[in-house]
This record gives sequence, C-alpha cells and structure tokens, in this order.
Amino acid sequence: MRFHTPMNANLLHDLSDDIFKIVFEKSPGSLLIKGDAPRFTIVAASDTYLEVTASTRETIIGKGFFEAFPEDKTLTDDTNARVVFTKVVETGKKIYVPAYRFDVYSPDTKNSGIRYWSCNNTPILNADKKVVYILNTVVDITNEVTAREAVAENENRLRMATDAAAMATWDLGLRGLTFICSPRMNEIFGHPSDKQLPLETLQAQVDADDMKNVVLPAYNEALQTGKYLYEVKIHRADGLLRWIKTQGIVIYDDKKEPVRMLGTLIDITDNKRDEIRKNDFIAMASHELKTPLTSIKAYLQILSKKLGPTSDLFINSILQKANMQVNKMADLIHGFLDLSKLESGKLQLKIKPFDINKLIEDCIAETSLLSPGRTVKFEQKTELIVSADIEKISQVIDNFLSNAFKYSDKESPVLVSSTKNNGNLRVSVTDKGIGIKPKDQEKLFQRFYRVENDRTKNISGFGIGLYLASEIIQRHKGTIGVESKEAGGATFYFTLPIVE
Ligand code: ADP
Repeated sequence: MRFHTPMNANLLHDLSDDIFKIVFEKSPGSLLIKGDAPRFTIVAASDTYLEVTASTRETIIGKGFFEAFPEDKTLTDDTNARVVFTKVVETGKKIYVPAYRFDVYSPDTKNSGIRYWSCNNTPILNADKKVVYILNTVVDITNEVTAREAVAENENRLRMATDAAAMATWDLGLRGLTFICSPRMNEIFGHPSDKQLPLETLQAQVDADDMKNVVLPAYNEALQTGKYLYEVKIHRADGLLRWIKTQGIVIYDDKKEPVRMLGTLIDITDNKRDEIRKNDFIAMASHELKTPLTSIKAYLQILSKKLGPTSDLFINSILQKANMQVNKMADLIHGFLDLSKLESGKLQLKIKPFDINKLIEDCIAETSLLSPGRTVKFEQKTELIVSADIEKISQVIDNFLSNAFKYSDKESPVLVSSTKNNGNLRVSVTDKGIGIKPKDQEKLFQRFYRVENDRTKNISGFGIGLYLASEIIQRHKGTIGVESKEAGGATFYFTLPIVE
C-alpha cells in the first residue's frame, strides 16, 4: 500500500511502506479509511486508536467503517460519521468535529461506558484531486466533557438555589468596572428582566444618604477586610421604596490587589417592616414607661425630704432599696430608648473634650452605689483628655462595671485601667468571675445575645448593654472586645483614637 498525501515531500520517497506503516501505527488515535463511500473501508489503524476503541486490527481492518463501529443514528448531521465522511469525499475539505458521544464497549468491564470524542477528518487526494482516503484522528475528551458538565450542573444548582431564595447574584470587576447581574436584580430594582442593567442605573436608585453613609464606607471596608455587607433603601423604577441587603466577597490577585467582588442581593423589605414596627413599639413603650417612673422617682425624693434625717433603720433601708430599683429600671428603659434611636439612625453623638480618668472615677462611684460592698481598684491617674460623647462613653463604662459585678462573686475585686498607647486610649474592666467560652465571645456584642448556662440563668438582663456599647464605640471609630477564659474571669475593653 502506498500513501499519497498532498505533502508528499522528497524525503518521504526514501521511506519504505513498512516504515511508513510503523510510523502510522504509532501515531496517536489515527484511522485510515478509503474514500469508497458508502462503505468507507478501514485500511489502517494506529495502536492508540485500537486501544481507545477497544478493538483489534484483525476485527476491523478490511471492514467497512460502519460494520466495525455501529452507526449511531441519533447523532446530528454535524456529528454523524456517515454524514461527515460523505461530506469530506464530496467537498475534498477537512472537517473537524469538536465533540460527540460514542460509547465504547470494554471487554474488561463488560460494559460500554459513556465516552466523548473530538475528531479531525482529513481528505487525502490523488493527482486528480479525488478523495482516495480519509485520515480520521480522534481524541478522547471524556474527562473534559464530564468536567464541563459538572461545572454546568453546579451552576444550574446554584441558580436554582438562588432563584428559590429570590436572590439576585452580581459580579463586579474592579479593573474597568465591569458589572454582571442575574435577572432577579432587575426585578428587585423594578426593571424588565430581559436586559443587562448598567451599574450606574442601580447606584442611582440607592437612597442618596444611604449611598454616602452606608454603601461607600462598606465598599472601602470590603477592600480592606475582603467582606462586603450592607442594608440600604432603594427607590424602585416604579417609585416604591424597598429595603435590600447585599453580601459579597472580594477576590484578590497574586499581588493582593482587589480585582473582583461578587455576591448576592435580596429584598428584605418585609423583615425590615417587622423590625421597624418592633422598634417603634419598643420606643413607644419605653417612652410611656419613662413618665410614670420619673414621677415615682420624684415622689421618693419628696418622701425622703419630708421625712428628714431618721434613725429608723427599716424606713431608711426600704427607701434606699426603692431608689435602687427605680434607678435600675430607669437604666433599662434608657437602654431600650437608645436601642430604638440607634436602629432608626437617630443616635447622635455630642463630641467634646473631657478627662476620661475623672469620668471613670465618677462611673465607679455611681455603679458602686447600686452594688454596695464591692471592691473596685482603679489607680489614680493623671488627666487624660479625649474627645468623645461623655454621656455615651459613661454608659459603656457603666455597662462594663455592672456586668463585672453581675457575673462575679461579691468578694472578688474588679480592676479598672486606662492607658494611652500609639495615639489610642484603652479602657478595660477586669473581673474574676464566671468568664466566657470562646464560642460565645464573638457573639456577645450582638443584639439580645445572652450566654445561656447554669451560672447565668438566675442573673437578669436583656442582652442589649454590650450591643449598645459596641455601636457607641464603633461610631467613635474605636474598637471593643473581650479577653476571657471560662472560669478565669473576663476583661472587657474599648479603645478610642486620641486626636492630639
Ligand atoms: P445583659 O447583661 O443585660 O444580659 P449585656 O449585653 O451587657 O446584657 O451582656 C450580654 C451577655 O454577655 C450577658 O448576658 C452575659 O452572658 C455575658 N457577659 C457580659 N459581661 C460578662 C462578664 N463580665 N463575665 C461573664 N459574662 C459576661
């Protein structure tokens, strides 16, 4: 047999048929068939072709292609071998089939497994430009196709999950600001879902104040921390006011430069309305409770005054207890009022300079009145001026102190310290009480979070003190935290930047 190829260069003349045959048989995934349509007789097959098709030279050479390999009539014209070979013969042009399925029976497993292939069908012409052979080279692409299918399947699953959660997804390229979002985003913002919305359109719909006070700070924070999270109001295209929540992550390149942000977005208007109703209720109830309480406090004062100095221990002790309970209740109500102000964005800071050490002493004196007999150690310090909201900072220190009293034994001392380090003030309150497990520590500053265990179940509280403290400190651009080992007591601290 002689091979006639269009590239039959001089060098090839020196090759004997035998050597040519060996070269062909060692070539990857190759089959040579005659251009004798419709039989397409198999002339030669390479070793790897036989291997991947689980066939032998004896069983296929000399046979028509479709006798050796059963024809799959379900394939489309683009992938059906008979159509493709016939076209090659008719046109004399090479045809590439990027992917088709042809399952191969394996004598080892006695099963035919799903296999995907790509193949090239190159015509070999004689001097009259007639197709005498077709060189069919195949590549097994089963792994690539199954990997691609797995990715598509994952994407599909993700899309079904996000659809079920009525969630929109978005992807923002930070270089050149490319933006892609899912059709659900259009629905949430009140646009028809068939066109891709530009980022500018969505940004223009975010409430202007929220854009400045929430979105931009969250974006800048995300570039530092890698996490993007915020809740804002949007004005839908149809004029409705809605609340949305977005959550995402930042992707960095090798040089740790942020390149992409991606995440999800949901409409939280219904939840937000519930929350607003609840806040309104808390605000109203606390406000209504404040008035009678102020009256009770005033009546107690009048009573004490009218009574004058008395040696009646019983009356003295009852009056003192009544005052203590009224103050406790006033603190609780103020806490609730602050909570509702904070949640509705009405908590205003009145910043002015003051001496933090003087404030700490006042707080210790005041909270000790409510917990008589407790020892608080605070070394007398020189003046240390900070600029902050004195009322709010005193609230934080009071909360730390009253918690230290609440969650430790009466006999154990509480230590307070204030230090200045690298332009920051650090105030800490340490007790030797019940301590906090690491898993609870990170949640303590969340709203209404209380540690539930045998040692805390009889101690009253609402779990809002530390939440308020953390919000207050964050608004002062400071940090707040806790260091504790269970049973080893706890140190609560906050830091504030000192502007010299
Ligand atoms: P409350 O004390 O009113 O429940 P807080 O927000 O002040 O609310 O505190 C939240 C929770 O943190 C408390 O319920 C308690 O479980 C825990 N906690 C706070 N301070 C301490 C402390 N010094 N030692 C141990 N646990 C504490």
